[in-house]
Amino acid sequence: MQIITTKKELLAVVKACKQERKTIGLVPTMGALHEGHASLVKRAVAENNVCFVSVFVNPTQFNNKEDLEKYPRNINRDAELLSSIGADFVFAPTPEEMYSQEEMSTTFQFDFAGLDQVMEGKMRPGHFNGVVQVVSRLFYLVQPDKAYFGEKDFQQLAIIHHMVERSSMAGTFGKLQIIGCPIVREKSGLALSSRNERLSPEEKETALAISKTLFESLKWAKSASVAEVQQRVIDTINAVEGLEVEYYEIVDQTTLLPTNTFDHAIGCVTVYCGPVRLIDNIKY
Ligand code: AMP
Repeated sequence: MQIITTKKELLAVVKACKQERKTIGLVPTMGALHEGHASLVKRAVAENNVCFVSVFVNPTQFNNKEDLEKYPRNINRDAELLSSIGADFVFAPTPEEMYSQEEMSTTFQFDFAGLDQVMEGKMRPGHFNGVVQVVSRLFYLVQPDKAYFGEKDFQQLAIIHHMVERSSMAGTFGKLQIIGCPIVREKSGLALSSRNERLSPEEKETALAISKTLFESLKWAKSASVAEVQQRVIDTINAVEGLEVEYYEIVDQTTLLPTNTFDHAIGCVTVYCGPVRLIDNIKY
């Protein structure tokens, strides 16, 4: 496995892969890798001739300075994991390598047809602009045939689908396919997240109530309305000391707009566990 830190080196490696007519799989990550990331990488390795993984904590998608500073980083451990599961190339640039001064300070604007006006987009203004800024740059650099994203970040996946399929960028990325991969959880049900590293053992135990409540809500949905289930999820999680729901919304899986039926619906939650912001979701 080769670790690449510059765009120049990356472009040369990609050019060689293209000349050899190798298919390329790309898994964008922010590092502090766990089995959730590994599931994406294993799939990319299995479905392509070569697998590129980017490890880059993208400053332009953070609107909270403390969250950016405290985001866990461990490139050596990441490299070990990626090598053990068959990744071929790791692209781990510095922010300066990725962006010019100007790009770091100007807000990248993109039309998401309203997909960014709800949930994460509403709570974290500019977040998805930053995500698309980095992801589109990675697509230009790596020119993947397939790119892999987790359903854990369901709204992000919907926005990237939109960007590739319906935007002015359609065509720009050729036949690029976006592959959504299911959420990987601990045996306890807790969705794996790099941010879990910031939880104390007690907080981790407390956080279990999030997934437990989401799974319970599948039963509630059999005999209650969307509005009732939504409120019951919020109340149940908020009743746990140490947890505070930022939002729980049951929306249509395609439009991400509120729905009053459980058909094709997904419930997306964000909860503060102490200072750590955790997200999870469940399909009805
Ligand atoms: P991140 O490093 O958090 O930006 O995540 C990189 C990619 O891994 C994103 O596409 C995430 O949705 C995905 N991912 C993160 N956690 C999980 C998980 N528990 N299960 C599946 N995919 C995940």
